[in-house]
Amino acid sequence: VFQLSLPLNFLGSVYRELRQALIDMETMFNLQGVHANIKDKPDAKLLQLTAHGAELRFENVVFGYHPDRPILKGINFVVPAGKKVAVVGPSGCGKSTLLRLLFRFYDPQSGNVYVDNQNIRDVTVDSLRSHIGVVPQETALFNTTIKRNIQYGRVNASDEEVIQAAKRAQIHDAIMKLPDQYETKVGERGLMLSGGEKQRVALSRAILKGSPIMFFDEATSALDTHTEQGLLSNIRSILHERGGTSIFVAHRLRTIADADEIIVLKDGQIAEQGRHEDLLKRDGIYRHISWLMTLGACATGASTSTSNSLA
Ligand code: ATP
Repeated sequence: VFQLSLPLNFLGSVYRELRQALIDMETMFNLQGVHANIKDKPDAKLLQLTAHGAELRFENVVFGYHPDRPILKGINFVVPAGKKVAVVGPSGCGKSTLLRLLFRFYDPQSGNVYVDNQNIRDVTVDSLRSHIGVVPQETALFNTTIKRNIQYGRVNASDEEVIQAAKRAQIHDAIMKLPDQYETKVGERGLMLSGGEKQRVALSRAILKGSPIMFFDEATSALDTHTEQGLLSNIRSILHERGGTSIFVAHRLRTIADADEIIVLKDGQIAEQGRHEDLLKRDGIYRHISWLMTLGACATGASTSTSNSLA
């Protein structure tokens, strides 16, 4: 077993590094305005948002990475502008896939996704992605200073804006303790940050980006309860200030219990949908998994896999 597991572990870490590199590339592509798979239509328009925020709508969305293995089998839901929706469901049911479709790394095989009534197939990929802030479960750090890493959220942000974002993401104090503070080199060849610190760097980036749509994919899963609670309340007030629309993929009750709507995905479909209190009253899946969530168990897809990242 040992002989076998060693090369597998090794391959696993090579695979992770490769993935990481791909994620970095994707972000770099975004920064340079280049995108890998999806091409703009010749007459693609810029995504235009109304003043009061962005409504998201998934309409009959069918999608599989391989056409003969559908992951989403007809998904319909709306996130009204300024509202918070949480998505829960077993590992591998397609929660992160929703993000990849919204971000347009892929197009659905059928059905459509709309942002403020504009089909995302009809708008430029750049204008779409510029409106969406993502805080992934696993964050790619570049081999550069922590300041530059945060600035990837908005490359022309001032030092003061970077610091403000880091403060709201509750990572400023930790940065001030680093050898060169904001100028400390981090990433593969620099200082390694913990999973929770990386998540807060990602959150700083997203705060700096200032997007009206925010997608949190297990974004606080590596934090301890105390830090997570403080951060969730900061996130809440940031979203409130902006009238931001948000989707949370999460496996802890405190992250999702205040959502305006909770969507329970199962077998490619929405099995249940409603507010926390209403779902608890039903004798359904949500009630069944919610006590496991209270215990912090991984009933809803908190896996050790890397499948939550964007790439
Ligand atoms: P988890 O909670 O474990 O992160 P998830 O609900 O977010 O899971 P997804 O990452 O959306 O699940 O993946 C849905 C399914 O699609 C899984 O079975 C996964 O193995 C598969 N999948 C994900 N990415 C790809 C890909 N690039 N190519 C092929 N299959 C993929």
